[in-house]
Amino acid sequence: MRYTVNVNNYLDYIVHHSRDFIMLIDKNLRYVFVNKAYEKIIGKEVQEIIGKSVVEIWGMERFKKVMQKPLVDCFNGKETHYVSETPFGPEFKVIEFRFFPYREYEGGPVTHALVFKHDISRLSDLEWRLMTYEFRDQETGLFNRQSMNIILDREIQKSQILKDERPWGLFLIVIENLSEIRRLRSTDIATLILENSGLRLQAFLGKSTTIFRSEADELSALVMDLKSESDAAFLAESILSQLSTPYGSGVFEVRPQCRIGIALYPRHAASSAELIMRSQAAINSARQESASYVLYDLELHAQAVEKLRMLDSLRKSIYDNSFELYYQPIVDGNGKIEGAEALLRWHHPELGLLSPDRFLPIAEEHGVTRELEKKTLFSAARQLAEWTSYGVYISVNISASLFEDPALIELLDSAMNQAGITNPAQLRLEITESESLRNTAKAISRMQEFKERGYLIYIDDFGTGQSSMEYLKKLPAEVLKVDRAFVEGIEKNSQDRKFLSLIVELGRLRNFQIVIEGIENIDQFHIIQKMQVNSYQGFYFSKPVIAKTFEEMLKKNIQLPA
Ligand code: C2E
Ligand code: MG
Ligand code: MG
Repeated sequence: MRYTVNVNNYLDYIVHHSRDFIMLIDKNLRYVFVNKAYEKIIGKEVQEIIGKSVVEIWGMERFKKVMQKPLVDCFNGKETHYVSETPFGPEFKVIEFRFFPYREYEGGPVTHALVFKHDISRLSDLEWRLMTYEFRDQETGLFNRQSMNIILDREIQKSQILKDERPWGLFLIVIENLSEIRRLRSTDIATLILENSGLRLQAFLGKSTTIFRSEADELSALVMDLKSESDAAFLAESILSQLSTPYGSGVFEVRPQCRIGIALYPRHAASSAELIMRSQAAINSARQESASYVLYDLELHAQAVEKLRMLDSLRKSIYDNSFELYYQPIVDGNGKIEGAEALLRWHHPELGLLSPDRFLPIAEEHGVTRELEKKTLFSAARQLAEWTSYGVYISVNISASLFEDPALIELLDSAMNQAGITNPAQLRLEITESESLRNTAKAISRMQEFKERGYLIYIDDFGTGQSSMEYLKKLPAEVLKVDRAFVEGIEKNSQDRKFLSLIVELGRLRNFQIVIEGIENIDQFHIIQKMQVNSYQGFYFSKPVIAKTFEEMLKKNIQLPA
């Protein structure tokens, strides 16, 4: 028997077109009305539902579990709302239930339960996706950096509230050769290894440890159940041995080379930011000491203070004359000088003559490179003007941040104008492969600008960055300066020799001119001479020398090595 509710046509229309499931249940718990949406979702014809009891449709178990109480409440005059996961055929849906007492007239007895069910599965789906997008790294599925901050803060709070002094640690794990793997194998393999290292870590350290992908090539592990502080060192060793087990595909084998920096709570930090910073400082000193793991400690602190002092005197020295450009000759196949690379030196008031590696990273980190580089450019241009009659060029190193600075072109132009140099190709710009070229599209358009002005671009330290040849061919650079790492050992090892010649060959195929740097002996020179490269540079010909010495070489028109 079809129960007809006394609704006019409009209401009928609305009720049947609602996406909510609407039903009316009488005191005998039998369905007396259901709308079309409800018919559809449970996959039964209206005749199969109407007149049937709730138990018949849903089964006794489910009735008792989720429906009995709200129905009883409802007939006692009480509205009920709840959310439940409900099976619909093979699917589970998240349903919001609302039970309303239904009276034939106001003030009358409750004759029916009016039930609205609203499908919110989509909503919770969305929320879940948001959660995962926000807190999980998309490539590896591990927790991301953002969630690391939140989780660390929560653990710190917990320890503080419970006055729990037991140490726990943040282990920052860097896979040092991941970018190499990415370059030599593929991005996919590198990601797979990162992901798998996360799994290995999780399996080894257990459920109480949370693993994060804290940076592109880094994992972090929040290790809660340390037995003692020294246990951290022990654990680091075990982690390293777990992670360095090679991956093999039958065709090749890849062995992750990891390094770990550890910061401990509460000894090393009182906040998540400090803890993260300290673990990074630990990694840095591990790198400096070529150690596979380092625990952040007071000694590191001392080093940080030392660094600050360096920065302080750097700032003071920029405006006096304690910086000087040295020049290292670049020669042709006969040892004839073609030009020179300008290399910065600092006459430190206490430490003596310093190479850029000692101070440039600090300067860069604290934004004082700009002034320094500006001075370098102007002084290199002045020097170039003095040496014009010798027909040489000077190449200058441009830091990543300066390369990306829109003001660089103006700076270059004004340095050249001031020096009175009309041919921009006399000044070459060395841009290091790794950092500056990370954003390909931007790098290409920047380089194009320089090129249009007539400056020649060198890709410095070629082979050490992450760029593939495929991508390099898009760069409007003219010259590849192959890193000295590829020269080292070529006189002893035929494989190294082959590798270098392969790089040279590939570069030539892409129409690059090739400069090889870091040539230290005659054997290396003879080998490279056979490789069809354009220019040579290295201690074998000459170390970097002061301007006066370089000028004497030019005057004497000598062949290097002298
Ligand atoms: P780079 O541009 O790759 O410069 C080559 C470095 O290798 C120089 O070190 C040079 O002295 C060294 N070198 C040259 N031949 C040999 C060799 O045969 N064997 C060995 N073992 N080393 C050799 P330096 O002068 O210490 O410069 C280090 C880096 O500092 C440079 O690498 C460059 O990236 C940066 N740099 C130097 N001067 C400047 C500058 O004025 N501005 C900027 N932004 N960076 C600079
Ligand atoms: Mg260079
Ligand atoms: Mg270089």
